[in-house]
Amino acid sequence: MSRWDALLAVQEHDTTTEQLAHRRRTLPARAELEQTMAQVVAVEARMVEVEAVRQELVRSQKRLEDEIATMVDKAGQHDKSLYSGSISNPRDLQALQDEIAALRRRISQLEDQDLELMEQIEPLESSLTRLAVERAALDETAAGLRGRIAEDEVAIDAELASVQAERERIAADVDPGILSEYEALRPKLGGIAIARLVGGSCGGCHLSLSAVEVARLKKLPPEEPAYCEECGRLLAR
Ligand SMILES: [Zn+2]
Repeated sequence: MSRWDALLAVQEHDTTTEQLAHRRRTLPARAELEQTMAQVVAVEARMVEVEAVRQELVRSQKRLEDEIATMVDKAGQHDKSLYSGSISNPRDLQALQDEIAALRRRISQLEDQDLELMEQIEPLESSLTRLAVERAALDETAAGLRGRIAEDEVAIDAELASVQAERERIAADVDPGILSEYEALRPKLGGIAIARLVGGSCGGCHLSLSAVEVARLKKLPPEEPAYCEECGRLLAR
């Protein structure tokens, strides 16, 4: 293997490493997980909203029921007075009876309101139950996706470790000066610092070199580094 072939092999391994790292970052399950988590956030927000409305209605119901209890109590006391025989004046008795009747009518109205509130609360409770089920399903989906991501990461990491070990083994055969030049060129050239010269074209930028340049490169001693006049990449020949 010529030093340029070895450096080309290093390049191939570095490219593979980049591709694997990219695949690791952009696993489809990651996007799915992000979507699922966005759905969880939406469901939770909806739950908070519904729960706030429900609590407001429950508070109103509590106030109403307290009011009803007070009136029932009052009506009961009036009943007792009515039947205790302590009031003998017919006009007072009539007034008390009227008041009891008024209280009963009011209680009946409030009980209707209470029923209406209950009818408003029930669908909200059903919504909350449905949302909780939805949320649990999303949690399960998210857990599954996290598991898949972890598995994929383990597989890719194993592949990365093997590619890198192989890369180090090959790089050990490359002249250190050439290797550091290669390392310095890579970030400037989109990760590809060395390309093969094929039929007078650079395999990096795919541009044709002039015939004069090709002839000059062919005459260079094999160890002498050659560069593409178009893109500046090292040329393996
Ligand atoms: Zn080029």
